[in-house]
Amino acid sequence: MRGLMQDQPLLISSLLGFAERFHRDVEIVSRRVEGDIHRYTFGAAANRARQVARALEANAIGFGERVATLAWNGYRHFELYYGVSGSGRVLHTINPRLGLEQIRWIIEHAQDQVLCFDLTFLPLVRQLHALCPSVRQWVALCGDEHLPTDDDIPGLISYESWIGCQDDDYVWPVFDENTASTLCYTSGTTGDPKGVLYSHRSTVLHAWGVSLPDALCLSARDVVLPAVPMFHVNAWGLIYAAAAVGFKLVLPGAALDGPSVHALIEAEGVTMAAGVPSVWQMLLGHLQQSGQHFSTLRRTVIGGSACPPAMYAQFADDLGVEVVHAWGMTETSPLGAVSTLTAAHMALPAEAQRRLQLKQGRPPFGVDLRIVDDAGNELPWDGKTFGNLQARGPWVVGAYYPGTERAGDGAPASALADGWFATGDVATIDAAGMMQITDRSKDVIKSGGEWISSIDIENIAMGHPAVAMAACVGVHHPKWDERPVIVIVRKPGMEMSRDDVLALYAGRVARWQVPDDVLFLDDIPIGATGKVLKNKLRELCKDCITLAS
Ligand code: AMP
Repeated sequence: MRGLMQDQPLLISSLLGFAERFHRDVEIVSRRVEGDIHRYTFGAAANRARQVARALEANAIGFGERVATLAWNGYRHFELYYGVSGSGRVLHTINPRLGLEQIRWIIEHAQDQVLCFDLTFLPLVRQLHALCPSVRQWVALCGDEHLPTDDDIPGLISYESWIGCQDDDYVWPVFDENTASTLCYTSGTTGDPKGVLYSHRSTVLHAWGVSLPDALCLSARDVVLPAVPMFHVNAWGLIYAAAAVGFKLVLPGAALDGPSVHALIEAEGVTMAAGVPSVWQMLLGHLQQSGQHFSTLRRTVIGGSACPPAMYAQFADDLGVEVVHAWGMTETSPLGAVSTLTAAHMALPAEAQRRLQLKQGRPPFGVDLRIVDDAGNELPWDGKTFGNLQARGPWVVGAYYPGTERAGDGAPASALADGWFATGDVATIDAAGMMQITDRSKDVIKSGGEWISSIDIENIAMGHPAVAMAACVGVHHPKWDERPVIVIVRKPGMEMSRDDVLALYAGRVARWQVPDDVLFLDDIPIGATGKVLKNKLRELCKDCITLAS
């Protein structure tokens, strides 16, 4: 017997439709690449999203065809999120920090028909346009007054002209909720990037999931600043959750340096901000130097890489900002786990609570996690045994975008084994279901048959006041297979010797886990999504270890 409730597909346009009816006057504030602040409301954004849909119609962009963006977090990008997907086209958010050849590769692979870009990326677009024959329309995200006057890019149009001549009387089409909505490529540190193709259903369910109290706890009383870019897994779902929940959205544009982010948080009364540790490092560095504080910020979500305990302490203990540590990946939309405590955890001593909050956390309903050994056998949840982390659920990838990986019959090859997606992370899970990432499997340091967690070694160094950044990599060793080397960036004007670094480990890890060597650098190479590029570091460190060790 079928249930007798209304059969309404979960569509991205319905999120915006809801915002238009119930949060019409809530603000979206953007720092524009033009330099000024723009503010309007969800109601105005919805009108312009409909104009986007009409502009795509005028360009004869078909249902399911891809429309790409090379853009920062801003209101025009917001309109494209809804106008493109809402009208049945697929939004392809490109990470501009990838190399030219990778960007060209993914544009061609996705067969993008339209490419909308912020003016910051004009030099990149000048190189791309001759290399990407699939793109029929190039759109600069600006008004005519800022449109470049040279004719390097034939047919280039300003966004304001592109949508400005369209009516906003468009009616969002209704279609199957499993229709593709958005395409994101993984950063491809090993091999070609892989396309993850989200659906309307997965996106709406994920927006609900992230909003839950034990997830990102989003409310209509919040003012949320996603410092995580809209080209990095849909800014962790916050752009969609904003329409569903009705919080004020503050979009920082290209200015992610400490002073700019702090000023925006203060000016707009931001209560919650989300970002990767490398961006928060800049913000915290600025506050430390200037002695400033936050007057409204209550919570920060930190994810994308492990949150170092020292960063947690600076936010929580020095600045009174609650830290929500989250784990996820492009393939999990991205939210996979959040380190919020249960009632039983709240009865534990403060120190034990902090240790739990530094784990990557529990999955929200919608994600299931397990750890397995190399043969695929499930491993115990004892908080000690570590294994390959797998995930499944309605917002976890099932197969990669066709062409990235194809089965023999031309259909997309499943990304699953036994119904589970192998994340490539190594983790423990404790009896309460709290998951802790020990490493990315390719970053685990295998020394004499034992495994050393690079994250543990890094966290100890990051706790020292002279350390701005630390990263640990395994370096080939003829006897032990691999040995750890710790790479350190000192804070400006701070002294710290090799012996000072190695002394940090005495009594805190087993002797065989202590790094064999220390490499001091002025900067650590950071990849397109704000993560440390460990393959580059391994290359830099390969001659560090003296064979005597
Ligand atoms: P991406 O798909 O680029 O977002 O990268 C996903 C990967 O980032 C995961 O598989 C993890 O290796 C890493 N990651 C994300 N969040 C965390 C976290 N909180 N702690 C440790 N690693 C993380």
